[in-house]
Amino acid sequence: MRMTSQRKKILEVLHQHDLPMTCDDIHVMIKDDKLNLSTVYRSLEKFYEDRQVFKTIINQKQYYYTGHHHHFLVCIGCEKMIPVGCHIEGKEKAIGQPYGFQVTHHDMTLYGYCEHCQ
Ligand SMILES: [Zn+2]
Ligand SMILES: [Zn+2]
Repeated sequence: MRMTSQRKKILEVLHQHDLPMTCDDIHVMIKDDKLNLSTVYRSLEKFYEDRQVFKTIINQKQYYYTGHHHHFLVCIGCEKMIPVGCHIEGKEKAIGQPYGFQVTHHDMTLYGYCEHCQ
């Protein structure tokens, strides 16, 4: 894959943020008139295929993040997101096994109220 400057910029923006971002968030953050939303989306999907980024669903929207596989606690009150480690990695196989199911990956977000919103 040829690393264009636009693609580099997309990865840079993601690396600079600890919290996951939607395709829209990244597009807005880059502020480049020549960069359209579908290019951002295609680049992100390519990065995902290459395992350079991860994705997860939060509030029914697709979010991307870098680093290592983890999950998020999402506050219903203030929409704060708290990154947390994965507790089922390595147990996936055992969960699928009784059903003859081969688990390839999982997606999980935990919702509730943060310290301030309780
Ligand atoms: Zn909150
Ligand atoms: Zn996980």
